[in-house]
Amino acid sequence: MLSSRKAVLSVPSYHPPLAGREGLRLDFNENTVGCSPRVLARLRMLDTEELAKYPERESAETRVAEFLNVTPAEVLLTNGVDEAIHLLCQTYLESGDEALVVVPTYSMYRIYASAAGAEVVGVPAEAEFRFPAETLRKHIGSRTRLIAIANPNNPTGAVAPQQELLQIARSAADAALLVDEAYFEFYGQTMVECQRGLPNLFVTRTFSKAYGLAGLRLGVLVGDGGQMQAIRRMSSPYNVNAIALACLPEALDDQAYLRQYVGEILESRRRLQRFLESGGIPFWPSQANFVLVRAGHSKLEAAKFVEQMRQRGILVRDRSVDPGCEGCVRITLGPRDHADRLMTALEDTFEVLGITPGVSRP
Ligand code: PMP
Repeated sequence: MLSSRKAVLSVPSYHPPLAGREGLRLDFNENTVGCSPRVLARLRMLDTEELAKYPERESAETRVAEFLNVTPAEVLLTNGVDEAIHLLCQTYLESGDEALVVVPTYSMYRIYASAAGAEVVGVPAEAEFRFPAETLRKHIGSRTRLIAIANPNNPTGAVAPQQELLQIARSAADAALLVDEAYFEFYGQTMVECQRGLPNLFVTRTFSKAYGLAGLRLGVLVGDGGQMQAIRRMSSPYNVNAIALACLPEALDDQAYLRQYVGEILESRRRLQRFLESGGIPFWPSQANFVLVRAGHSKLEAAKFVEQMRQRGILVRDRSVDPGCEGCVRITLGPRDHADRLMTALEDTFEVLGITPGVSRP
């Protein structure tokens, strides 16, 4: 009988909803108002030839390289950051290798690393989900071949100081260090400039969050030119579709749209955090487009909270399964009117569930 590779059986399953997300979607850190109108205009102009031809990645890659101030050889466009993570794991990991991840963090690092046959070691975050730099460094050993760090981290919104990341890159020269900057636009600090001279450092960016293009599946992997040659071998030449490639320059060129949108999200983040603080609801200050909130003390309480919000037309994400996050929900931020709707629903939900001010901070 046909059976899958052994590593496949050890891959943790991940079940994001693939249908039925009705309402205001504050559950997947997406842009809730949509992309730049320039992208939509370009989409409407697509012609049959563009769809008939295999996609040509090169000019869009050059455009991204210019934008990031690196060379095209240092850039690979990917089918979302998820594919970039997959390619890194396929390029550097084999059975018996070790991959280090911070816990809690984005699940796809663990999934792709174990699919490649590696043993995944979770390094717990420090108190208040602070970045565990020292413990992480202590875990680096001769088998460590990948270290994946989301900066800002998902689901906590915590960040890793640049100096610590540089030190990790230097002390793990035989491992690929991935600094996943999927939420860069809401934070503003990047490692892209540090990648020169550190051939084991890789940085990812995405068009799924601030740019509002999660549906197009468009990510960017930046790394040393030599290393990128190996990664390109693992990639399909047609990994990014022609529609995404056609839209990319328009999305990048409309930085005015991006600045306006990000400004609104940062304002909503301040408002939500002030609102939670004044209500005595525990949360973790975030540098991303979401906030992790302690909505209850148990999985059951978090589930009730999510359900109450759903009844008010707002989807939020239960993160109780993540270590240290029992009773926590992650709430994505939208612009002003979405923040207004969110806070009204939160007030009602807190009242209905009897979540009262004065709960001590975690
Ligand atoms: N990295 C992190 C840290 C994320 O939170 C997400 C999305 N939730 C991704 C990568 C996936 O990004 P993409 O849509 O570009 O695959």
